[in-house]
Amino acid sequence: MSLDRRTFLKGLGTTAAAAAAGTSTALAVRPKAPAADSVGLLYDATRCIGCKACMVACREVNQLPPERDKTGLYDAPIDLSGGTKTVIRLYREGEQTAYSRAACMHCVDPACVSVCMFGALHKQDNGIVAYALDRCIGCRYCQVACPFNVPAFEWDSATPKIVKCEMCRERVAEGRLPGCAGACPREALVFGRRDELLQEAHRRLAEQPGKYVPKVYGESDAGGTQVLMLSHVAFEKLGLPALGDDSVPALSETIQHSIYQGMALPIGLYALLAVVMLRNRRGEAKSEEEQP
Ligand code: SF4
Ligand code: SF4
Ligand code: SF4
Repeated sequence: MSLDRRTFLKGLGTTAAAAAAGTSTALAVRPKAPAADSVGLLYDATRCIGCKACMVACREVNQLPPERDKTGLYDAPIDLSGGTKTVIRLYREGEQTAYSRAACMHCVDPACVSVCMFGALHKQDNGIVAYALDRCIGCRYCQVACPFNVPAFEWDSATPKIVKCEMCRERVAEGRLPGCAGACPREALVFGRRDELLQEAHRRLAEQPGKYVPKVYGESDAGGTQVLMLSHVAFEKLGLPALGDDSVPALSETIQHSIYQGMALPIGLYALLAVVMLRNRRGEAKSEEEQP
C-alpha cells in the first residue's frame, strides 16, 4: 500500500471525525466492490477541448447562479465551491497541455459517507453518493475526510448546505443523462454503467497504447471510484492524488486497529493529529519565510 502524507492525514482526519461522531469505521460494513448496477462517468482528457460546456450545463440543470470574475461580465469559477459542482482545469507545462475535470468521484467506499454521523451523505443502490439536506448538521467532517477535497460549504448562505456533484441523480432516475455528460460535444465525458465504462476505458488503452498513461484512474484508486479517468498526462499533474488501492475508511480502520491494539484511547489520535498538523503548519510557515 502506498501512503503519502496527505493520505495519511486524511486517514487520521477520518478516524478522528468518526471517533468524534461516535461512530467507528472499524464496525461499519463497507462496500469493497462497486454494486452490480453502479453507474458512473468516464472522462477522457485526451478528448477534452476545454470548452466548458459541461460546466455550463451543470450550472443550468442544478440552477446554480454564475460565479462572476472581477469584471462581473464572465462566469469564471476557478474551483469547486458552494456554487460550482464541477470545474475544468487547464494544465500546461512546456509543450504539454491537458484539461482535467474536478468533481465528486463517487467513491466506491466514500470517506465522506463513513464520517457522516446522520447519513446526510449516503450511497444509493446505483452507487451515487447523494446528499440529504434535512439530515445534515453542518459539521463539515465530510470536507475533512474527502481525499479529493470535493465537498464545499455554502459560506455565504444563512442556511448553508454541503454542495457537491450528485451525478444528477434525479435526472438519472428518470433515465436522462447527467447535464454535463449530455452537453459534452466530444464524448470526453460519458455516462453509463461503471462496468461498461471500465471496459470502454480499457478498450481505448489497448487500441492506442502510446496515446495514454497506461492506467484507468479510479479503477482501484482510493478503493475505486465511479468516476473514471483517462489521460495523456500523469494523473498527479492533473490534481488526482496517488492514493493507493485502499479506501480512506479502510486506511482509518487500519490506524484505529493499531491504536486499539496498543490499548491507547482515541484521544491519543487527536493529540497525534494536532502534533502532525502543527508541525506541518510550522514547516509551511518556515518554508514561506525562506522563500525570496
Ligand atoms: S470524492 Fe469525496 S465527496 Fe465524493 S464520494 Fe469520494 S469522499 Fe465523498
Ligand atoms: S453529474 Fe450533474 S451535478 Fe455532477 S458535474 Fe455533471 S451536471 Fe454537475
Ligand atoms: S464539455 Fe466535454 S470537451 Fe467540453 S470541457 Fe467539458 S468534458 Fe471537455
